[in-house]
Amino acid sequence: MTAPKTIRFQQIDIPAPDPGEVQINIKRIGVCGSDIHVYHGLHPYTSYPIVQGHETAGEVTALGEGVTDFKPGDKVTPEPQVFCGKCWPCTHGLYNICNELKVIGFQTNGTACDYYTYPADCLVKLPDEMSYDEGAMIEPLSVAVRAVKKAGDIKGKEVLVMGAGPIGNLVAQTAKGLGAASVMAADINGFRLEKAVECGIDYTVNPSREKLDEKIIAAFGAEKKADVIFECTGVQPGLEAAITNARKGTDIVVVAVYGKAPTVDMALVNEAELRLIGTARYNIDDFRTAIGLVNDGKVKLAPLVTDTFDFADYNAAYEKIDKSPETTMKVMIRVND
Ligand SMILES: [Zn+2]
Ligand SMILES: [Zn+2]
Repeated sequence: MTAPKTIRFQQIDIPAPDPGEVQINIKRIGVCGSDIHVYHGLHPYTSYPIVQGHETAGEVTALGEGVTDFKPGDKVTPEPQVFCGKCWPCTHGLYNICNELKVIGFQTNGTACDYYTYPADCLVKLPDEMSYDEGAMIEPLSVAVRAVKKAGDIKGKEVLVMGAGPIGNLVAQTAKGLGAASVMAADINGFRLEKAVECGIDYTVNPSREKLDEKIIAAFGAEKKADVIFECTGVQPGLEAAITNARKGTDIVVVAVYGKAPTVDMALVNEAELRLIGTARYNIDDFRTAIGLVNDGKVKLAPLVTDTFDFADYNAAYEKIDKSPETTMKVMIRVND
């Protein structure tokens, strides 16, 4: 992408893997909300030109010197964060919030090419029976895995997820997959709620037509309400609804990325002893948990894919998302078969 809404294709030499690197034939790339911000020129931390692509699955085609953990033919997905390893977060197990963090496809070139080379250390092997579509969704699923882990032990908890887009859907499925008692997904988009039902979410609510507070009480009880709330809408009304519908002493995990900084009633957070917990991206363990959840059949990824475009039609993928966001969940780019 050389400028907002401008994609240029370029013929380059196939890159050879350096020592410690793996060469990957890219198969699928998932398009996510952050990519769309780049497309619109609205991503605060991306400059042009940039090769996009950070939700990726591919096949190992060559190994650099010293690489022993992979072999040609392996299915893999890159953990797309490049970090310094020296700053306070990096030296305290939080490299996902490294002071110098670069995410491929945003601050350094991503995977939108036929062949890509990547450090073996940051590559995760996918099971042979996993599809490349599923493989490309391990990255967004890892966002959900970290978010649910941030809530502590989710076993037996009643969970409310605000927002049922791809991330909200995956958070809801992950909460259930990791042992939540029951999960409710809230969204003003009926199509997304249908997808949540298809993925086995227990309750859905459309706050534009139904009363959220009544649905919460009907599902979880007037005293108990939700034990944990995940905010996945990224808009002020979503966060506001989470705070105003929380039982006292509830944890609210803030998963969404906010385009516009929301303003909320901190007096409620204070008086009800709500805990707002931030979560950003994932680490490589979250990738492994994500793969396990899919492998064990606890998270379904296939229902999320609403569209697939060939590599040459990258632009059309964005145009479709712009034209009909209400019927779009995950859009896949088929780079190679
Ligand atoms: Zn993404
Ligand atoms: Zn760092």
